[in-house]
This record gives sequence, C-alpha cells and structure tokens, in this order.
Amino acid sequence: MANRTDTRTERAHRTIHAGGEWLAASSGATREILDPADALPFAVVAEGDEKDTDLAVAAARRAFDAGEWPHTPVAARAALLRRVADLLVRDREELGLLESRDAGKTVEEGRVDIDCVADAFRYFADLVAGEAPGRVVDAGSPDVHSVVVHEPVGVCAMITPWNYPLLQASWKIAPALAAGNTFVVKPSEITPLTTVALIGLLVEAGLPTGVANIVTGPGHTVGARLAEHPDVDLVSFTGGLTSGTKVARAAAATVKKVALELGGKNPNVVFADACETEEGFDTAVDQALNAAFIHSGQVCSAGGRLIVEESVRERFVAELARRAAKIRLGRGTEDGVECGPLVSAQQRARTEDFVASALAEGAELRCGGKRPEPSPQRPEGGYFYEPTVLDHCHREMRVVREEVFGPVLTVETFRTEDEAVALANDTEYGLAGAVWTADAGRARRVAGRLRHGTVWINDFHPYLPQAEWGGFGKSGVGRELGPAGLAEYRESKHVYQNLAPKPVRWFAG
Ligand code: NAD
Repeated sequence: MANRTDTRTERAHRTIHAGGEWLAASSGATREILDPADALPFAVVAEGDEKDTDLAVAAARRAFDAGEWPHTPVAARAALLRRVADLLVRDREELGLLESRDAGKTVEEGRVDIDCVADAFRYFADLVAGEAPGRVVDAGSPDVHSVVVHEPVGVCAMITPWNYPLLQASWKIAPALAAGNTFVVKPSEITPLTTVALIGLLVEAGLPTGVANIVTGPGHTVGARLAEHPDVDLVSFTGGLTSGTKVARAAAATVKKVALELGGKNPNVVFADACETEEGFDTAVDQALNAAFIHSGQVCSAGGRLIVEESVRERFVAELARRAAKIRLGRGTEDGVECGPLVSAQQRARTEDFVASALAEGAELRCGGKRPEPSPQRPEGGYFYEPTVLDHCHREMRVVREEVFGPVLTVETFRTEDEAVALANDTEYGLAGAVWTADAGRARRVAGRLRHGTVWINDFHPYLPQAEWGGFGKSGVGRELGPAGLAEYRESKHVYQNLAPKPVRWFAG
C-alpha cells in the first residue's frame, strides 16, 4: 500500500495518461481540487487542453489500429476485467474516501459507489465471457453460410459528470473494454481523482499500453475536442442537457456514434392506498426522503417531484418535512453525518436560485430553504444547503420543470389515476419515476403508462447492472448497463459466404 500511495503522490500533477505515460499538461497548467466540505484545496491535477487530448487520442488510435487488445480472446479480456474488480475491492477504503472528499458524499456512499463499480466490471466480464461469438443467419440456401459478428467500435471518448464520478465512468469503461475498444476518458474537472486512480488499476491489471487513456481538464477544451475529433469513433457522454446537446452537435460533423445520458426530472407518485397502514405510510415517507435527498439531491434519478394523492397530502408532507429537517448535514468523512455538502459554490447558488424563484412563484416553504449554521461537522466555507420541501407547487413553476440537482423536493397533488399519470409524464425528460400503491393492478397499469427509462414500483433508486439504464425524451440517447450497454460499444458485421460461387449473368455480355 505504501508503494502505491508514493507512486500516486509522485505523479500528483501528472494526471494525464497517454500511450502508457503519466504526464503533466503540455501547457504546464494545473488545477486545485477543492473539498466541498470546506472549500479548501486537497489535491492538484493537470489542467489538460486540446493538445493533450490529441496526444491521448493518437495513443488510443494506435493501440486500436495496431495493438493486440481488439483481438485479445474474449476470455482473456473478461479475466482482466475481473482482475480490475478485485483491485477495486482491495482499494475500496482508499477510493471510497477519495470519492467522498472529491464529490462531498458520505464515506459510506463512497464505499457503496466503489462496490457498484466493481459490480459493473464483473457484470460485463461475465456477459462477454458467456456469449456466443456470432449469430448464424438462415440465408435460405444450403450454399450460403451467413453470420453476424460483433466487432469493437474503435476509439471511444468518454465524458463524465461529478456526481458519481467513478460509477459513471465504469458504466462506459467496463463495456468498452469488454468489447475490445480503446478509450480516452475525460472526468469532470472538479471530481477527477478516482477516475485517475482507476486508470492506474487498469495498468496494474495488465491492460496493454495505449488502451486506457485519460485527460483531466475542462469540458469546453478537452471535452469539446474529444467530441469533434476525427479519430474518435464513438463519444459517450453523461452530464447535463446543455453540454450534451453541444457534444451531439460537435460529434455530428464526423458522424461518430453518440450515446447521451442526460438529466431527469423524476416523479415519485404516491397513491393514498400506499399509506393506509402505518407501516406503508412510514415506508413511503422514508423512501420519498431517500429519493429526494440522498447525495443532497445531486442524482440524475433524484425523486425531486413528489406527486401525492390529495387526500393524504397534508399528513404525508408534514411528516416528510419533519424528517427532512432532522437530516444530519456535515462533512462526509464525519461519523453520524447523513448528507454531505453540494459539490460546488456554483451548485449551491443554482439551488438557492431555484428556491427563490419557486417562492416568488407561490410555493410554500415547509422546511429548509437556507444554508445551515456552521458547526464542528460543517465548516463555514463548505457548500451546505438544508434539505428543502416546497409545497403547493405546479407545472408552470421553473422548479418543477427544470432539473435542480440539489436538495429540493417539490409537492404536487392529484385526485385520479389519470391525473397522476399525466403529471408524471408532463416533463421533457424521462429518466426514472416511481409509483407507490397497495393495488397491484394499479401499480402495473401506471408503470406501463409512465414514459421513463426506469420505473420503480414501491421502491426508489435501485438499479441492476444487468438491466438497461437510460432515458426517454431529453434524458438521452442510448442505454448503459445490460446487454444494450455493451451493444453501444460494438459494430455489427454481417459476413456472407457463398459456398458454391457461380456467375449471376445479370449482364448478358
Ligand atoms: P455537465 O454537463 O456540466 O458536465 C458533464 C461533463 O461534460 C463534464 O466532464 C464537463 O467537463 C463536460 N463538458 C462540459 N461542457 C462540455 C462541452 N462543451 N463539450 C464536451 N464536454 C463538456 O454536467 P455535470 O454538472 O458535471 O453533471 C450533472 C448532470 O449530469 C446532471 O444534469 C445530471 O442529471 C447528469 N447525469 C446524468 C446521469 C444519467 O445516467 N442520465 C448520471 C449522472 C449525471
């Protein structure tokens, strides 16, 4: 362990990895990484730019065009992915802590993230290892052998956000490697540390030189260059709608494959019948809290829109606000803390702006709506914001239409099932949503009508690596995880072999 830490310290500013070398930015620029709990720098990374990006893409291109990885037997690729999972387990504490400090989440959340990253590597290892190498197609003639095979796409560019830095990266890196691609990843400029560490683990696991590359740096330089780069075959982006749209536009010029995992405005629909028993009521309230406030609401699938049946609204919202006000905010590394700070001053200012606009538009503040007092667990400079419940919200409010990405829950009500479905679908996004009901028929009916990529019945937030993740509408294009999440990183090739060739005589001469 001492050796690994020393190696990482030595390369503190050399966080660009291209063609097997750890490099500083070619311009010499660096960036301080701040701990969101106190706004103090705790790490320094290279601030790469277009030149560094070109270097990394060239390395990935060489490794794909002339390297061994695309042709490495599937069993060997799967074995390497499993080794990476084992290394993640070995470094779980260190990486969980790093994720906590970088993104502001609790250490326990950081550890869970690392477990999920290891699961993604194992899942894609198992998926490719268990597959048939191709699909024989019936060509309607004994003289033809026709088979559809999968091949890697080529050089993949991956651009990731700050809320689940390593997890989002792993949903791209694991399937891309399983499929035989090479890649350049660009993590969010404010939370790059665990992704840099993962590249170290890929090298340690024995990945050939040039297959895995990383450029730390901003979106408008490194990210934009990756999206437009003529030597990149695919760009997979997770982030906000505005940046995602720019990526799609930049990628169009070279007709590369594009996968977009964007934002959400996710409804949590609660029917009165789910609250008839004390246990049902307690569970629905508890999960509504979790849906909205875990990681301070900085979750693409956060259940920030509570849509509750009018008859139980007052009781439900009163209990929700009572419990939200008791959530223990503080530095994620402190014992007993349940929720960390927002990731940046910008993210907190954005949240404050949303709350102010909601209040100006007539929402009623039931709890929160301000920064908490500093305490020993909450340093003064930290980007903390109290979990906030806004009652009497409606569709026309900006806070109901747009993604807040902060600890803000809005409350809307309905009287009929049709009204509940109409409200839940009344969003330009379509990432995830939930329905709470004790009526099994209603659960299935409503789930069937929701236009969202994931629908939970009597639950919120769980996902499975073997089930596709992604959104309808402006929540994105394509899917991660599951077989479709592997298919993103492949081209299909039809190989048609004529076993008895003869002239076709279409042309008489
Ligand atoms: P963001 O769009 O600001 O940044 C995401 C990434 O894109 C960063 O690495 C950033 O540097 C880069 N980027 C910014 N401008 C770019 C450009 N012009 N060209 C190329 N790259 C550019 O998003 P964020 O604030 O980091 O993350 C929050 C957003 O991510 C939210 O909208 C959230 O819903 C979304 N998200 C979605 C999912 C999902 O699975 N659908 C998961 C996590 C986060």
